[in-house]
Amino acid sequence: MTQTTEITIIGSGIIGLLTAREFLQAGYSITLIDKSLSGQESSWAGGGILLPLYPWRQEKAISTLVIKSISNYSTLSNELYNSTQINPEWYDCGLLICKNPDIELATNWCTTYQIPFQETIPSFINNFNTKTKNPLWMPTIAQARNPRLLKSLKVYLLNAGVKFIENSEVINCELKNNNINTLSTNKEKIKVNQLIISTGAWTGKLAKQLLPTSLHSPEIHPVKGQMLLFNANPDTLPHMVLDNDHYLIPRRDGKILVGSSVEHSAFDKCTTKETKEKLFTFATELFPILKNFPLCNHWAGLRPGTKKGIPYIDKHPEIKNLAINAGHFRNGLVMGPASAQLIADLILDRTPCVDPAPYHL
Ligand SMILES: Cc1cc2nc3c(=O)[nH]c(=O)nc-3n(C[C@H](O)[C@H](O)[C@H](O)COP(=O)(O)OP(=O)(O)OC[C@H]3O[C@@H](n4cnc5c(N)ncnc54)[C@H](O)[C@@H]3O)c2cc1C
Repeated sequence: MTQTTEITIIGSGIIGLLTAREFLQAGYSITLIDKSLSGQESSWAGGGILLPLYPWRQEKAISTLVIKSISNYSTLSNELYNSTQINPEWYDCGLLICKNPDIELATNWCTTYQIPFQETIPSFINNFNTKTKNPLWMPTIAQARNPRLLKSLKVYLLNAGVKFIENSEVINCELKNNNINTLSTNKEKIKVNQLIISTGAWTGKLAKQLLPTSLHSPEIHPVKGQMLLFNANPDTLPHMVLDNDHYLIPRRDGKILVGSSVEHSAFDKCTTKETKEKLFTFATELFPILKNFPLCNHWAGLRPGTKKGIPYIDKHPEIKNLAINAGHFRNGLVMGPASAQLIADLILDRTPCVDPAPYHL
């Protein structure tokens, strides 16, 4: 039986890692358990845009977590960089949105949340081969280079004494008096005190496996997203661009991501030729200079989908030592910091940083 810590978190994607950071800062001892290596699933596969696509078309509960998170993202990134020498590359390169049939909604949203915007578009719009409709330039929207953010967070937590149990899949648990006492993985048994599940797309499945008779299982299903990567030169594209449902994200070293597909395909992470062609055509038609650069990667990840994209951030109503922080769908990187703070507030009986009601199980 493995020694127990005060907090045990199952799942070490962006949500598990940021949750661990919150408890670390509050002085607790923490164990993170992952079925593979930390930060290799959806959080690695994502694009890292620190804004939902068209946030004005989404629920207010999403904006609440987004706005709270983005106000501190550059500080988070700097702190991690200073402490680990691994740069999460928070970068406020700005976002151009080519078509906005609902421009009034968009500008009202920006005004409400004090996000700078311009409807008079800078001349760089001529670099793109598209028919614009009410284009919108959002000069302060940032990105994070998610694979580096995850690496940096892991090193930060390891240096602070957080315990990582990797390549260990949680498969069962022992319950006593409405408490989970012990977790069983494919390798060992682990005693737990406070338990948090942040297993992304696998959360609904795992909750049913651990608590088959519970009435409060989170409804989370996998939604596959495929991405492409071009190996371009630095400054080929100075900012992010969104055209209809697809986007380009330039990294500082010149690499350009093309995203993404939205496919309901169970737990299948295969990439397909059709989607590769679709993303390639989108990218090279919108930004023809990309034809001069090689395609260097194509991958897929499983987003933790919920009906309206609102995550579950809550203490379990039946199991006293269990909480859930999962279901961030397309916006886990941008909602992560506030979600982590909220779950820690709820467990530690602190004043919640945002109204917790929309995120109840
Ligand atoms: C193509 C794509 C583009 C995206 N773009 C963006 C974007 O631009 N901005 C943004 O904010 N978000 C984006 N997202 C969404 C974002 O990536 C997710 O919302 C976020 O990564 C969810 O984080 P997570 O930690 O909950 O899940 P994950 O990163 O999937 O982590 C869950 C972890 O749980 C582990 N696990 C699962 N089951 C078990 C078990 N039984 N035992 C132990 N461990 C287990 C897994 O191995 C995994 O490491 C994108 C996603 C995709 C796929």
